[in-house]
Amino acid sequence: MSKAQVQAQIVSGPQAVILVGGRGTRLGRLTDNTPKPLLPVGDVPFLEHLIANLARHGFRRIILLAGYLGDQMQSVIDKAPELGVEITCVIEPEPAGTGGALLYARSLLDRRFLLLNGDSLLDMNYLSLRADADWREADMGRVALRAVADGSRYGTVEHTDGRITHFAEKSGRPGPAVINGGIYWLDIGVLDMIGALPCSLEQEILPVLARTGRLGGELCEGYFIDIGVPDDFQRAQTEIPAWWRRPAVFLDRDGVLNTDIGYAHRPDQIEWLPGARQAVRYLNEQGYFVFVVTNQAGVARGFYDEATVHALHAWMQGELGRDGAHIDDWRYCPYSPEGSIDAYRQVHHWRKPAPGMILDLLESWPVVREGSFLIGDRDGDVQAALAAGIPGYIIEANNLQDQVRALVAKHKLKSEIAV
Ligand SMILES: [Mg+2]
Repeated sequence: MSKAQVQAQIVSGPQAVILVGGRGTRLGRLTDNTPKPLLPVGDVPFLEHLIANLARHGFRRIILLAGYLGDQMQSVIDKAPELGVEITCVIEPEPAGTGGALLYARSLLDRRFLLLNGDSLLDMNYLSLRADADWREADMGRVALRAVADGSRYGTVEHTDGRITHFAEKSGRPGPAVINGGIYWLDIGVLDMIGALPCSLEQEILPVLARTGRLGGELCEGYFIDIGVPDDFQRAQTEIPAWWRRPAVFLDRDGVLNTDIGYAHRPDQIEWLPGARQAVRYLNEQGYFVFVVTNQAGVARGFYDEATVHALHAWMQGELGRDGAHIDDWRYCPYSPEGSIDAYRQVHHWRKPAPGMILDLLESWPVVREGSFLIGDRDGDVQAALAAGIPGYIIEANNLQDQVRALVAKHKLKSEIAV
């Protein structure tokens, strides 16, 4: 890849490919006229839950590999701007298995991409599964594994020391098992192994990779649901909306994530503070939303424009991603009464100490207030939090990760006492 291509990929984030082409026969009449991933869960199609979850992890480019009733994917493509992603849909001309579907989209794929089943949700850190340190030289992929109480519906997986050693066919035997979670980081070289079509990636390619020691695996313990059978599809109706509801941690940017040098707006001006990226990852994995709320009066003062702010945040998201961390959403306030640019010279309800940015995030995401808090480096940050009805803390000098761990423990304890 050229330097420009690498840069483009960092800014646009990693790529996710979703398999949405299956017939969904086990759901009977429900999928007569609707592809399984488009069945409604809560008040939106299941697929939108998946895409929203990818978007908050920093995935901006989504490819749908469609087949059965593939034209209907247009309804989700139309919502791409709202979901904060770009969606490309590839409809395979005839069913050729998961391997065939991938092959058909080959020209669109990154060298390394995330592949997911469009009919299941596994709550996991997509970015940490990709961690460079865990890929060995010859590896062609890494698979998310999940322990389940009853593995009879699934093929099972044997693994040891972060390596997958064997895939077994569906046994039909009830009882606990480790299964393929249906989420993979794959190297594009996998496509060279696909021979005659149709070809099932799960049944023909992954077992060969496992046998030849070229497949990593990581056990994930988060919430898992597969909507492929009527009982679980029904269960998803209440469980998935409940899974989305969680507390949030609001972080100021300059002086909390990075050194406040005054009007930082370029990557070379970002010096991450000790423990900052680790703190974000810790919060991600503890199941919090992590939001940034930052005053950017530099826009009003004409030092840089809003596009520059967006580009910097995309770059920061890419850097966080290398450490398996992500910011779920960002708010910045470009306005200031001291601005020199007319359009931005005003008192604005988003500018801290006003709570506008926090209130907007509370409205945009299913945040549970109990257990939520803010960390900033100025009194105005804390005042904004209090005005929004959540506790605010000033960052301590040493290490953000230590402070965040202590605050999480403190607020967990409080909510447990409250229960
Ligand atoms: Mg600050």
